[in-house]
Amino acid sequence: MNKTVNITFDYELFFGPESGSVNKCLIEPTNLLFDLAKKHDVKFVFFVDAGFLWHLKKYLHIEKCKAEFDRVSEQIKKLSDNGHEIALHVHPHWEDSIFENSTWKINVNRYKLSDFNDSGVEQIITKYHQTLIEITGKSCKSFRAGGWCMQPFSKIKKALEKNNIFVDSSVYRNGFHQYTAQSYDFRTAPDKTEWNFEDNECIENTAGKFSEIAITPSVLSPSFYFGLYLRMKLNPGKFKPMGDGTWLKDKNKIYKQFYSRTDHFACCDGFFASRLKPILLNLELEAGKNRMLILGHPKSMAKCSFTYLDEFIFFAKNKGYNITTLTQ
Ligand SMILES: [Zn+2]
Repeated sequence: MNKTVNITFDYELFFGPESGSVNKCLIEPTNLLFDLAKKHDVKFVFFVDAGFLWHLKKYLHIEKCKAEFDRVSEQIKKLSDNGHEIALHVHPHWEDSIFENSTWKINVNRYKLSDFNDSGVEQIITKYHQTLIEITGKSCKSFRAGGWCMQPFSKIKKALEKNNIFVDSSVYRNGFHQYTAQSYDFRTAPDKTEWNFEDNECIENTAGKFSEIAITPSVLSPSFYFGLYLRMKLNPGKFKPMGDGTWLKDKNKIYKQFYSRTDHFACCDGFFASRLKPILLNLELEAGKNRMLILGHPKSMAKCSFTYLDEFIFFAKNKGYNITTLTQ
């Protein structure tokens, strides 16, 4: 396989108490990403939170919602027309969220697809996918579960088959999280950049019809988080995310990051983007690993992330990496 870097973004609002604005979380940072890709002549992958769009469409009689839907659709179409991949990102908690008094009331009681019954899962995946097809005129080929919550895969397999989607990019090896709303366990995933599977994303099956193109894993030390915290305090203009919403937080997980090494992944959000070069250099020391897959969010891009990403793209291209979509 050619040496490949995939730079992927989960295109979405925030899911904590404040969902943030479409302009600050999506439009503005994504326009900067579009310009960056153009500058380097590379292609990105945008996993679009289509549930947001499907539910936004219910409120087109409200002027603000109509304007937001038009702006976001126009941006997604432009990305797609320019060769970036528009992929399906599913956050099913939109099913229980409503727009009221000019703001989204987010309800995460059913945050995972597995919180819905089988026909519910199929309807959600199909109608969200259809929303993207209506915007771009193209079917999606790749999927990423919202909040990495794709398990058990048996719950979503049929719906993906029906939608002709056979590439997943939700797994990062050793990823493990158990929280009221969110849970996933990728501790047994293969130590590979990609593999085929059939019924369980963590078990390789060479004859399986699904491919996992995994998010590149990486371990973070407490010193990284102390550095991040200090930078955001001392120089928010450079290090704070552009998005103006609030995260769905698990306090225990946050504390843990400050006293033990934690499993993370190649990430271009905020100051995390400073680690992209060392992650690629480490990957090159491992036999057979010719692909690095980066995950980021437009909402979490900070001023510094654009600088780090710009330098990283230059660096990776010089090393002969093709920076492209998952299904080029
Ligand atoms: Zn997401």
